[in-house]
Amino acid sequence: MKIHEYQGKEIFRKFGVPTPRGIACFSVDEAVAAAKQLGGKVWVVKAQIHAGGRGKGGGVKVAKSIDEVKSKAQQILGMQLVTHQTGPGGQKVRRLLIEEGADIRKEMYVGMVVDRGTQRAVLMASSEGGMDIEEVAATAPGSLRRRPVDIRRGLLHADAATLVQGLALGAAEGKVTDALVKLYEAYAAFDAELLEINPLIVARDGRVVALDCKFVMDDSAIARQPLVSRAGTPEKLTGLEARARAAGLKYIDLEGNVGVLANGAGLTMTTMDVVRHHGGRPANFLEIGGESYTQARPALELLLSKPGIKSLVINFCGAFARTDVMTQGVIEAIEALKPRLPIFFSVHGTGDVEAIKLLKERLGVTPLATMEDACKAAAR
Ligand code: GDP
Ligand code: MN
Repeated sequence: MKIHEYQGKEIFRKFGVPTPRGIACFSVDEAVAAAKQLGGKVWVVKAQIHAGGRGKGGGVKVAKSIDEVKSKAQQILGMQLVTHQTGPGGQKVRRLLIEEGADIRKEMYVGMVVDRGTQRAVLMASSEGGMDIEEVAATAPGSLRRRPVDIRRGLLHADAATLVQGLALGAAEGKVTDALVKLYEAYAAFDAELLEINPLIVARDGRVVALDCKFVMDDSAIARQPLVSRAGTPEKLTGLEARARAAGLKYIDLEGNVGVLANGAGLTMTTMDVVRHHGGRPANFLEIGGESYTQARPALELLLSKPGIKSLVINFCGAFARTDVMTQGVIEAIEALKPRLPIFFSVHGTGDVEAIKLLKERLGVTPLATMEDACKAAAR
Protein backbone atom coordinates (compact mmCIF):
# COMPACT_ATOMS: atom_id res chain seq x y z
CA MET A 1 0.00 0.00 0.00
CA LYS A 2 1.23 3.45 -0.88
CA ILE A 3 0.78 6.40 1.41
CA HIS A 4 1.05 10.06 0.46
CA GLU A 5 4.19 12.12 0.82
CA TYR A 6 2.68 14.29 3.58
CA GLN A 7 1.69 11.18 5.54
CA GLY A 8 5.17 9.71 5.16
CA LYS A 9 6.70 12.95 6.37
CA GLU A 10 4.56 12.79 9.50
CA ILE A 11 6.17 9.42 10.18
CA PHE A 12 9.62 10.95 9.57
CA ARG A 13 8.92 13.64 12.17
CA LYS A 14 8.04 10.98 14.76
CA PHE A 15 11.43 9.40 14.16
CA GLY A 16 13.31 12.68 14.30
CA VAL A 17 14.11 12.97 10.60
CA PRO A 18 14.06 16.66 9.61
CA THR A 19 11.44 17.57 6.99
CA PRO A 20 10.22 20.95 5.73
CA ARG A 21 7.22 22.31 7.65
CA GLY A 22 4.13 21.70 5.59
CA ILE A 23 0.33 21.52 5.59
CA ALA A 24 -1.87 19.19 3.54
CA CYS A 25 -4.76 20.94 1.73
CA PHE A 26 -7.87 19.99 -0.22
CA SER A 27 -8.74 23.39 -1.77
CA VAL A 28 -7.11 26.54 -3.13
CA ASP A 29 -8.40 28.56 -0.16
CA GLU A 30 -6.83 26.08 2.22
CA ALA A 31 -3.57 26.30 0.27
CA VAL A 32 -3.47 30.09 0.59
CA ALA A 33 -4.29 29.93 4.29
CA ALA A 34 -1.58 27.27 4.75
CA ALA A 35 1.07 29.41 3.06
CA LYS A 36 0.15 32.38 5.28
CA GLN A 37 0.29 30.20 8.36
CA LEU A 38 3.71 28.79 7.40
CA GLY A 39 5.05 32.28 6.74
CA GLY A 40 8.34 33.00 4.92
CA LYS A 41 8.90 34.08 1.34
CA VAL A 42 9.11 30.87 -0.68
CA TRP A 43 6.69 27.97 -0.74
CA VAL A 44 6.45 24.74 -2.68
CA VAL A 45 3.07 23.56 -3.97
CA LYS A 46 3.14 19.77 -4.32
CA ALA A 47 0.54 17.44 -5.84
CA GLN A 48 -0.18 14.44 -3.60
CA ILE A 49 -0.68 11.43 -5.83
CA HIS A 50 0.48 7.82 -5.58
CA ALA A 51 3.28 8.13 -8.15
CA GLY A 52 6.69 9.71 -8.47
CA GLY A 53 8.02 11.99 -11.20
CA ARG A 54 5.61 14.74 -10.21
CA GLY A 55 8.22 17.47 -10.63
CA LYS A 56 8.77 16.74 -14.32
CA GLY A 57 5.04 16.31 -14.89
CA GLY A 58 4.26 19.79 -13.52
CA GLY A 59 2.98 18.67 -10.13
CA VAL A 60 5.65 20.38 -7.99
CA LYS A 61 6.01 24.15 -8.27
CA VAL A 62 7.91 26.77 -6.33
CA ALA A 63 5.90 29.92 -5.45
CA LYS A 64 7.48 33.23 -4.43
CA SER A 65 4.39 35.10 -3.28
CA ILE A 66 0.98 34.30 -1.81
CA ASP A 67 -0.54 35.16 -5.19
CA GLU A 68 1.73 32.59 -6.81
CA VAL A 69 0.75 30.00 -4.22
CA LYS A 70 -2.83 30.66 -5.23
CA SER A 71 -2.24 30.44 -8.99
CA LYS A 72 -0.05 27.31 -8.73
CA ALA A 73 -2.54 25.64 -6.42
CA GLN A 74 -5.29 26.45 -8.96
CA GLN A 75 -3.18 24.93 -11.74
CA ILE A 76 -2.30 21.73 -9.89
CA LEU A 77 -5.42 20.93 -7.88
CA GLY A 78 -7.84 18.93 -9.99
CA MET A 79 -5.35 18.41 -12.82
CA GLN A 80 -4.86 15.00 -14.40
CA LEU A 81 -1.18 14.62 -13.54
CA VAL A 82 0.75 12.42 -15.95
CA THR A 83 4.18 11.15 -14.92
CA HIS A 84 6.33 8.25 -16.10
CA GLN A 85 4.85 6.25 -13.21
CA THR A 86 1.13 7.03 -13.63
CA GLY A 87 0.57 5.64 -17.12
CA PRO A 88 -0.92 7.71 -19.94
CA GLY A 89 -4.20 8.47 -18.14
CA GLY A 90 -2.45 10.14 -15.20
CA GLN A 91 -3.91 10.57 -11.73
CA LYS A 92 -6.32 13.27 -10.65
CA VAL A 93 -4.84 15.58 -8.01
CA ARG A 94 -7.21 15.86 -5.04
CA ARG A 95 -4.76 16.94 -2.34
CA LEU A 96 -1.86 19.36 -2.15
CA LEU A 97 1.00 19.73 0.24
CA ILE A 98 2.07 23.33 0.86
CA GLU A 99 5.59 23.45 2.25
CA GLU A 100 8.11 26.07 3.21
CA GLY A 101 10.71 26.34 0.44
CA ALA A 102 14.13 24.82 0.95
CA ASP A 103 17.41 26.35 -0.13
CA ILE A 104 19.19 23.39 -1.67
CA ARG A 105 22.97 23.06 -1.66
CA LYS A 106 23.18 19.38 -2.47
CA GLU A 107 20.60 16.74 -3.40
CA MET A 108 21.12 13.02 -2.82
CA TYR A 109 19.14 9.84 -3.32
CA VAL A 110 18.40 7.42 -0.48
CA GLY A 111 16.42 4.21 -0.91
CA MET A 112 15.59 1.11 1.07
CA VAL A 113 14.09 -2.05 -0.43
CA VAL A 114 13.56 -5.65 0.55
CA ASP A 115 15.93 -7.99 -1.24
CA ARG A 116 14.21 -11.36 -1.22
CA GLY A 117 17.28 -13.16 -2.52
CA THR A 118 19.45 -12.35 0.48
CA GLN A 119 16.46 -11.94 2.85
CA ARG A 120 17.76 -8.56 3.83
CA ALA A 121 16.87 -4.94 3.53
CA VAL A 122 19.18 -3.13 1.15
CA LEU A 123 20.10 0.45 1.77
CA MET A 124 21.04 2.51 -1.27
CA ALA A 125 22.51 5.97 -1.46
CA SER A 126 23.73 8.09 -4.32
CA SER A 127 25.19 11.56 -4.62
CA GLU A 128 22.94 12.04 -7.68
CA GLY A 129 19.71 13.24 -6.07
CA GLY A 130 16.59 14.30 -7.92
CA MET A 131 17.15 11.70 -10.65
CA ASP A 132 15.21 8.46 -10.70
CA ILE A 133 17.11 5.48 -9.37
CA GLU A 134 16.73 3.75 -12.75
CA GLU A 135 18.30 6.79 -14.37
CA VAL A 136 21.14 6.83 -11.82
CA ALA A 137 21.78 3.13 -12.39
CA ALA A 138 21.90 3.72 -16.15
CA THR A 139 23.89 6.95 -16.33
CA ALA A 140 26.00 7.06 -13.17
CA PRO A 141 26.14 3.54 -11.72
CA GLY A 142 29.39 4.36 -9.93
CA SER A 143 27.63 6.95 -7.77
CA LEU A 144 25.24 4.36 -6.31
CA ARG A 145 26.26 2.69 -3.06
CA ARG A 146 24.47 -0.33 -1.64
CA ARG A 147 24.59 -2.03 1.71
CA PRO A 148 22.57 -5.04 2.88
CA VAL A 149 21.17 -4.71 6.39
CA ASP A 150 20.72 -7.69 8.66
CA ILE A 151 17.16 -7.07 9.84
CA ARG A 152 17.79 -8.72 13.23
CA ARG A 153 20.63 -6.33 13.96
CA GLY A 154 19.25 -3.23 12.26
CA LEU A 155 21.29 -0.46 10.70
CA LEU A 156 24.15 0.47 12.97
CA HIS A 157 25.57 3.96 12.96
CA ALA A 158 28.92 2.60 11.80
CA ASP A 159 27.29 0.82 8.82
CA ALA A 160 25.56 4.01 7.73
CA ALA A 161 28.80 5.96 8.12
CA THR A 162 30.63 3.52 5.84
CA LEU A 163 27.89 3.84 3.24
CA VAL A 164 28.03 7.62 3.00
CA GLN A 165 31.81 7.85 2.89
CA GLY A 166 32.90 9.00 -0.53
CA LEU A 167 29.64 10.77 -1.36
CA ALA A 168 31.41 14.14 -0.99
CA LEU A 169 29.10 15.33 1.77
CA GLY A 170 31.73 17.31 3.64
CA ALA A 171 30.60 18.67 6.97
CA ALA A 172 27.09 17.20 6.45
CA GLU A 173 28.35 13.60 6.58
CA GLY A 174 27.50 13.12 10.26
CA LYS A 175 23.96 14.50 9.87
CA VAL A 176 23.29 12.36 6.81
CA THR A 177 24.50 9.32 8.77
CA ASP A 178 22.12 10.16 11.64
CA ALA A 179 19.25 10.63 9.18
CA LEU A 180 19.92 7.24 7.56
CA VAL A 181 19.80 5.43 10.91
CA LYS A 182 16.48 7.10 11.78
CA LEU A 183 15.04 6.49 8.31
CA TYR A 184 15.90 2.81 8.61
CA GLU A 185 14.17 2.70 12.02
CA ALA A 186 11.02 4.18 10.45
CA TYR A 187 11.28 1.76 7.51
CA ALA A 188 11.54 -1.25 9.83
CA ALA A 189 8.96 -0.09 12.39
CA PHE A 190 6.32 0.51 9.71
CA ASP A 191 6.89 -2.78 7.86
CA ALA A 192 7.71 -0.89 4.69
CA GLU A 193 8.66 -2.70 1.49
CA LEU A 194 10.14 0.38 -0.07
CA LEU A 195 11.22 3.76 1.17
CA GLU A 196 12.72 6.39 -1.09
CA ILE A 197 13.87 9.84 -0.11
CA ASN A 198 14.66 11.57 -3.36
CA PRO A 199 16.02 14.06 -2.71
CA LEU A 200 17.49 14.06 0.76
CA ILE A 201 19.13 17.47 0.75
CA VAL A 202 21.85 19.39 2.43
CA ALA A 203 20.47 22.92 2.72
CA ARG A 204 22.57 26.05 2.42
CA ASP A 205 22.40 26.50 6.20
CA GLY A 206 23.88 22.99 6.62
CA ARG A 207 20.71 21.20 7.72
CA VAL A 208 19.96 17.78 6.29
CA VAL A 209 16.29 17.56 5.26
CA ALA A 210 14.07 14.91 3.66
CA LEU A 211 12.46 16.86 0.80
CA ASP A 212 10.49 13.98 -0.67
CA CYS A 213 9.16 10.73 0.70
CA LYS A 214 7.84 7.63 -0.99
CA PHE A 215 6.68 4.83 1.29
CA VAL A 216 5.25 1.53 0.07
CA MET A 217 3.97 -0.56 2.97
CA ASP A 218 3.77 -4.35 3.04
CA ASP A 219 0.06 -5.13 2.55
CA SER A 220 0.25 -8.21 4.77
CA ALA A 221 1.44 -6.06 7.69
CA ILE A 222 -1.22 -3.34 7.42
CA ALA A 223 -3.40 -5.01 10.05
CA ARG A 224 -0.80 -4.33 12.72
CA GLN A 225 -0.16 -0.75 11.56
CA PRO A 226 -3.19 1.26 12.66
CA LEU A 227 -1.57 4.56 11.71
CA VAL A 228 -1.00 3.35 8.16
CA SER A 229 -4.29 1.55 7.72
CA ARG A 230 -6.03 4.84 8.48
CA ALA A 231 -3.74 6.78 6.15
CA GLY A 232 -4.15 4.57 3.09
CA THR A 233 -6.67 5.19 0.37
CA PRO A 234 -9.54 2.87 1.22
CA GLU A 235 -10.43 0.24 -1.35
CA LYS A 236 -13.84 0.65 -2.93
CA LEU A 237 -15.68 -2.65 -2.58
CA THR A 238 -18.91 -3.49 -4.39
CA GLY A 239 -21.81 -4.81 -2.33
CA LEU A 240 -21.03 -8.43 -3.18
CA GLU A 241 -17.31 -7.93 -2.52
CA ALA A 242 -18.08 -6.45 0.89
CA ARG A 243 -20.33 -9.43 1.67
CA ALA A 244 -17.53 -11.78 0.60
CA ARG A 245 -14.95 -9.91 2.67
CA ALA A 246 -17.18 -10.20 5.74
CA ALA A 247 -17.55 -13.95 5.13
CA GLY A 248 -13.81 -14.40 4.66
CA LEU A 249 -14.13 -15.29 0.96
CA LYS A 250 -11.94 -14.02 -1.89
CA TYR A 251 -14.46 -12.69 -4.40
CA ILE A 252 -14.07 -10.00 -7.07
CA ASP A 253 -16.74 -8.46 -9.31
CA LEU A 254 -16.06 -8.02 -13.02
CA GLU A 255 -18.12 -6.80 -15.98
CA GLY A 256 -19.03 -9.92 -17.99
CA ASN A 257 -21.49 -12.82 -17.68
CA VAL A 258 -19.40 -15.97 -16.95
CA GLY A 259 -18.81 -16.85 -13.29
CA VAL A 260 -15.49 -18.46 -12.31
CA LEU A 261 -14.85 -20.62 -9.25
CA ALA A 262 -11.41 -22.19 -8.95
CA ASN A 263 -8.90 -23.25 -6.34
CA GLY A 264 -5.78 -21.12 -5.99
CA ALA A 265 -5.02 -17.66 -7.29
CA GLY A 266 -2.96 -18.85 -10.26
CA LEU A 267 -5.56 -21.33 -11.48
CA THR A 268 -8.31 -18.73 -11.05
CA MET A 269 -6.43 -16.19 -13.20
CA THR A 270 -5.64 -18.85 -15.80
CA THR A 271 -9.28 -19.94 -15.92
CA MET A 272 -10.35 -16.36 -16.61
CA ASP A 273 -7.72 -16.00 -19.32
CA VAL A 274 -8.97 -19.13 -21.04
CA VAL A 275 -12.61 -17.94 -20.78
CA ARG A 276 -11.54 -14.66 -22.41
CA HIS A 277 -9.48 -16.49 -25.01
CA HIS A 278 -12.68 -18.21 -26.15
CA GLY A 279 -14.58 -14.95 -26.40
CA GLY A 280 -16.24 -15.05 -22.97
CA ARG A 281 -16.21 -12.28 -20.39
CA PRO A 282 -15.91 -13.21 -16.70
CA ALA A 283 -18.70 -11.79 -14.53
CA ASN A 284 -16.84 -12.40 -11.30
CA PHE A 285 -14.46 -14.86 -9.73
CA LEU A 286 -14.06 -16.57 -6.41
CA GLU A 287 -10.89 -18.26 -5.34
CA ILE A 288 -11.36 -21.08 -2.90
CA GLY A 289 -9.29 -24.03 -1.67
CA GLY A 290 -9.94 -26.89 0.70
CA GLU A 291 -12.41 -24.62 2.50
CA SER A 292 -14.78 -25.34 -0.38
CA TYR A 293 -15.81 -28.34 1.74
CA THR A 294 -17.55 -26.03 4.20
CA GLN A 295 -17.74 -22.71 2.31
CA ALA A 296 -18.98 -23.70 -1.13
CA ARG A 297 -22.53 -22.63 -0.36
CA PRO A 298 -21.85 -18.97 0.51
CA ALA A 299 -19.29 -18.95 -2.33
CA LEU A 300 -21.85 -20.10 -4.91
CA GLU A 301 -24.48 -17.77 -3.49
CA LEU A 302 -22.14 -14.84 -4.11
CA LEU A 303 -21.21 -15.91 -7.63
CA LEU A 304 -24.85 -16.52 -8.59
CA SER A 305 -26.09 -13.25 -7.09
CA LYS A 306 -24.37 -11.32 -9.83
CA PRO A 307 -26.97 -9.78 -12.13
CA GLY A 308 -26.65 -10.99 -15.71
CA ILE A 309 -24.58 -14.11 -15.00
CA LYS A 310 -25.36 -16.80 -17.63
CA SER A 311 -22.95 -19.67 -16.95
CA LEU A 312 -20.42 -20.86 -14.41
CA VAL A 313 -17.06 -22.63 -14.71
CA ILE A 314 -15.86 -24.63 -11.72
CA ASN A 315 -12.22 -25.54 -12.13
CA PHE A 316 -10.48 -27.65 -9.49
CA CYS A 317 -6.93 -28.85 -9.78
CA GLY A 318 -5.77 -30.88 -6.79
CA ALA A 319 -2.27 -31.18 -5.39
CA PHE A 320 -2.34 -31.20 -1.59
CA ALA A 321 -6.00 -30.26 -1.37
CA ARG A 322 -8.16 -33.14 -2.62
CA THR A 323 -10.56 -32.33 -5.44
CA ASP A 324 -13.14 -34.86 -4.19
CA VAL A 325 -13.33 -33.04 -0.85
CA MET A 326 -13.70 -29.66 -2.57
CA THR A 327 -16.26 -31.11 -5.00
CA GLN A 328 -18.31 -32.60 -2.19
CA GLY A 329 -18.84 -29.09 -0.76
CA VAL A 330 -19.89 -27.82 -4.19
CA ILE A 331 -22.33 -30.71 -4.71
CA GLU A 332 -24.05 -30.00 -1.42
CA ALA A 333 -24.26 -26.30 -2.28
CA ILE A 334 -25.78 -27.08 -5.68
CA GLU A 335 -28.29 -29.49 -4.14
CA ALA A 336 -29.36 -26.80 -1.71
CA LEU A 337 -29.37 -23.81 -4.08
CA LYS A 338 -30.63 -25.56 -7.25
CA PRO A 339 -29.12 -23.02 -9.64
CA ARG A 340 -30.72 -22.90 -13.09
CA LEU A 341 -27.81 -21.75 -15.15
CA PRO A 342 -25.43 -24.23 -16.85
CA ILE A 343 -22.37 -25.18 -14.80
CA PHE A 344 -19.25 -26.59 -16.48
CA PHE A 345 -16.78 -28.55 -14.40
CA SER A 346 -13.14 -29.34 -14.91
CA VAL A 347 -11.62 -31.53 -12.20
CA HIS A 348 -8.05 -32.79 -12.31
CA GLY A 349 -5.36 -33.98 -9.91
CA THR A 350 -5.52 -35.59 -6.48
CA GLY A 351 -8.91 -37.21 -5.88
CA ASP A 352 -10.26 -36.55 -9.38
CA VAL A 353 -11.49 -40.13 -9.93
CA GLU A 354 -13.59 -39.94 -6.76
CA ALA A 355 -14.72 -36.39 -7.56
CA ILE A 356 -15.93 -37.34 -11.04
CA LYS A 357 -17.80 -40.34 -9.61
CA LEU A 358 -19.52 -38.13 -7.02
CA LEU A 359 -20.59 -35.59 -9.64
CA LYS A 360 -22.09 -38.30 -11.81
CA GLU A 361 -23.89 -40.05 -8.97
CA ARG A 362 -25.31 -37.03 -7.21
CA LEU A 363 -25.78 -34.40 -9.90
CA GLY A 364 -25.78 -36.51 -13.05
CA VAL A 365 -23.00 -34.27 -14.37
CA THR A 366 -19.84 -35.29 -16.22
CA PRO A 367 -16.93 -32.86 -16.03
CA LEU A 368 -15.43 -31.80 -19.33
CA ALA A 369 -12.21 -33.47 -20.42
CA THR A 370 -10.01 -30.40 -20.07
CA MET A 371 -10.27 -26.98 -18.45
CA GLU A 372 -10.15 -25.50 -21.92
CA ASP A 373 -13.30 -27.44 -22.87
CA ALA A 374 -15.06 -26.23 -19.72
CA CYS A 375 -14.09 -22.59 -20.32
CA LYS A 376 -15.05 -22.81 -23.98
CA ALA A 377 -18.46 -24.27 -23.14
CA ALA A 378 -19.11 -21.58 -20.51
CA ALA A 379 -18.04 -18.82 -22.88
CA ARG A 380 -20.54 -19.85 -25.59
P1 GDP B 1 8.89 13.92 -7.52
O1 GDP B 1 9.22 14.60 -8.81
O2 GDP B 1 7.54 13.26 -7.55
O3 GDP B 1 9.96 12.98 -7.08
O4 GDP B 1 8.74 15.07 -6.42
P2 GDP B 1 9.82 15.76 -5.47
O5 GDP B 1 9.22 15.96 -4.15
O6 GDP B 1 11.12 15.03 -5.48
O7 GDP B 1 10.03 17.17 -6.14
C1 GDP B 1 10.62 17.32 -7.41
C2 GDP B 1 11.82 18.23 -7.36
O8 GDP B 1 11.44 19.53 -6.96
C3 GDP B 1 12.87 17.80 -6.33
O9 GDP B 1 13.75 16.84 -6.85
C4 GDP B 1 13.57 19.10 -6.04
O10 GDP B 1 14.66 19.29 -6.92
C5 GDP B 1 12.51 20.15 -6.30
N1 GDP B 1 12.04 20.71 -5.02
C6 GDP B 1 11.17 20.14 -4.14
N2 GDP B 1 11.01 20.94 -3.06
C7 GDP B 1 11.80 22.02 -3.27
C8 GDP B 1 12.10 23.19 -2.52
O11 GDP B 1 11.60 23.42 -1.41
N3 GDP B 1 12.97 24.09 -3.07
C9 GDP B 1 13.52 23.89 -4.28
N4 GDP B 1 14.37 24.80 -4.76
N5 GDP B 1 13.29 22.80 -5.01
C10 GDP B 1 12.44 21.88 -4.52
MN1 MN C 1 11.34 12.89 -5.66
